[in-house]
Amino acid sequence: MTGTFRARAASLAKLVELLVYPSFCRICAEPLDEPGEKVVCRTCLAKLSPRGGPLCPLCGRFHEGEGEDHICSRCLERAPAFSLHRSCGAYGGTLKDVILLFKYRKYAPLSRPLAEFAERCLASDPKLWAGVDFLIPVPLHPARKRERGFNQSRLLARDLGRLRGMTVLEGCLVKAKNVPPQAGLRAAEREDNVKKAYAVRRRQKVRGKRLILIDDVTTTGATLRECARVLVEAGARDVRAVTLARA
Ligand SMILES: [Zn+2]
Ligand SMILES: [Zn+2]
Repeated sequence: MTGTFRARAASLAKLVELLVYPSFCRICAEPLDEPGEKVVCRTCLAKLSPRGGPLCPLCGRFHEGEGEDHICSRCLERAPAFSLHRSCGAYGGTLKDVILLFKYRKYAPLSRPLAEFAERCLASDPKLWAGVDFLIPVPLHPARKRERGFNQSRLLARDLGRLRGMTVLEGCLVKAKNVPPQAGLRAAEREDNVKKAYAVRRRQKVRGKRLILIDDVTTTGATLRECARVLVEAGARDVRAVTLARA
């Protein structure tokens, strides 16, 4: 490639970027002028903060107030098929704003800062990452993916995989049934809704493996429980889960 050609390609890429992505932060409206800033400015991204305090060591549910970690009533009643699940923060404030821009406004470049946030929050949890073979994004039904344009969990898994040097396994866990969206359903309805929605293809790929499911937001955990259940049924040795936020 000649220097001129490279320069032209670079300015064309810049032009496309200007047309596709806003030049002002979509949260605070300040201009995006720092190198590498896309859609949301650095100052707003710096406000993403992990949620501390006690949690359920199994499903990662945040407990109110102070105190020790303890298993929540839901996990006591019925232990999930995953061995542990960790969320980075509560679904609110800047974290919610960034996730909404990423997921529904389709600002794909936000996947990277969100994956970096997850890495920052959860890097020091040795139990979570130990011996993991693959990251597995929670899949969308193909029809839903066509409608949305991309699977946000897949982008997140890829960026997190890049940061942690982990392989993303795609095409094994699939959404076989296009069920109505979970949003707007009550807990019991969510559980029924996802039943038999997921399936495992090429089961030998997951047999005996330690896996981490990746998703953006969890509410009741019904999706993660069901995904973990089918993976364990397919022979996975251990399934864990990571989500950005917990509603
Ligand atoms: Zn901003
Ligand atoms: Zn729990």
